Amino acid sequence: MDPGKVPDLRSLPRAEIDRLLARLGEKPYRARQLFRWLHQKGAASLDEMSDLPATLRARLAAETSLAALERAEERRSTDGTIKWTWRTHDGKLIESVYMPEPGRKTLCVSTQAGCAVGCTFCMTGTMGLSRNLSSGEIVDQVSRANRRLVELGEGAAPRPLTNLVFMGMGEPLHNFDAVKAALDVLLAEDGPNFSNRHVTVSTSGIVPEMRRFGEETDVKLAVSLNATTDEVRTALMPLNRRWPLRELLAACREFPMKKGRRITFEYVMLGGVNDADADAIRLSRMVKGIPAKVNLIPYNENPGLGFRAPAPGRVEAFRDILLSANVTAVVRRNRGSDIAAACGQLAAEGGPGDPRRRAGGSTPPLTENGSAG
Ligand code: SAH
Ligand code: SF4
Repeated sequence: MDPGKVPDLRSLPRAEIDRLLARLGEKPYRARQLFRWLHQKGAASLDEMSDLPATLRARLAAETSLAALERAEERRSTDGTIKWTWRTHDGKLIESVYMPEPGRKTLCVSTQAGCAVGCTFCMTGTMGLSRNLSSGEIVDQVSRANRRLVELGEGAAPRPLTNLVFMGMGEPLHNFDAVKAALDVLLAEDGPNFSNRHVTVSTSGIVPEMRRFGEETDVKLAVSLNATTDEVRTALMPLNRRWPLRELLAACREFPMKKGRRITFEYVMLGGVNDADADAIRLSRMVKGIPAKVNLIPYNENPGLGFRAPAPGRVEAFRDILLSANVTAVVRRNRGSDIAAACGQLAAEGGPGDPRRRAGGSTPPLTENGSAG
């Protein structure tokens, strides 16, 4: 099997699978079977698809490719969070994070190996972009996680996961086509069948693509705001030079919002940088008129990047200012920070983005208390 060959079976939306099997002279139910193997059962290879005739599997093997992510590492946090590092067919390391909560089980998925946006506080940003993930690699993170969670007794087959957030490594709207194709598969009834209300895509604010996202998908949008002045935002997120706050907020106002929906504004709180009372006051004015909720994310410190977490009590004081201005605001609890699985700590360790490597530090243990893949 040559994963460089096209088409990649796991990347194909349902309609393409239908077309492919029709072209091979197969009955429609075969397409349904194949799609289920790929996306409900998370088959790693054609050999697993025991109820497909051997002749069909042989033709698929000859005309298509099927790659699966390999589990390179699993780390489990004391709070139930699990971080997986996956190895792609060409040796890239990407990460997904599982966050169980009462009533919901969320997976945070990556959309790129690295990220080109280069936010100065973000670990992934220090890596630069290695490459876009294919839609198959995006959906396979979900399949691998579901399979592994069943093995770990975290839920029932085929799908312990209830929610997805596209907030791992990478900028989803820099890889729009693959993200859109992945959503098509992830929401498919014959596939993983996630509800559009339970899937959120987060962007750093790629303004032109936000419009397209609103027109072409029906999942939820989160926007990483992170500052209340252009000066501070540009220092944190270089893309603010291209799409400053005024344009970003206009795009949010124009966003085609479904009934009852709100945009989530993420706001990483960096001690002494963007966490003053004046920021909270400006923020509450900025989001006026936009159906929105604000997620305050206390910064998870990354060694070597030079930013600090907010001082004790700051996050609550900031939130209270927003609440008193009638802005919905919640503090996002840090998850899995003991295993570097928290927001913005995702950078394949030992890779070019790992400051320990640059500093010549020792290699971290392969797993904390989970088993290696
Ligand atoms: N690229 C997209 C999605 C991935 S980043 C985006 O930027 O929206 C997901 C979120 O993690 C962003 O809101 C980002 O601001 C935040 N983040 C990055 N590094 C962080 C850190 N060290 N601590 C807390 N949040 C961080
Ligand atoms: Fe990329 Fe998001 Fe990190 Fe910025 S915060 S570098 S956009 S992953």
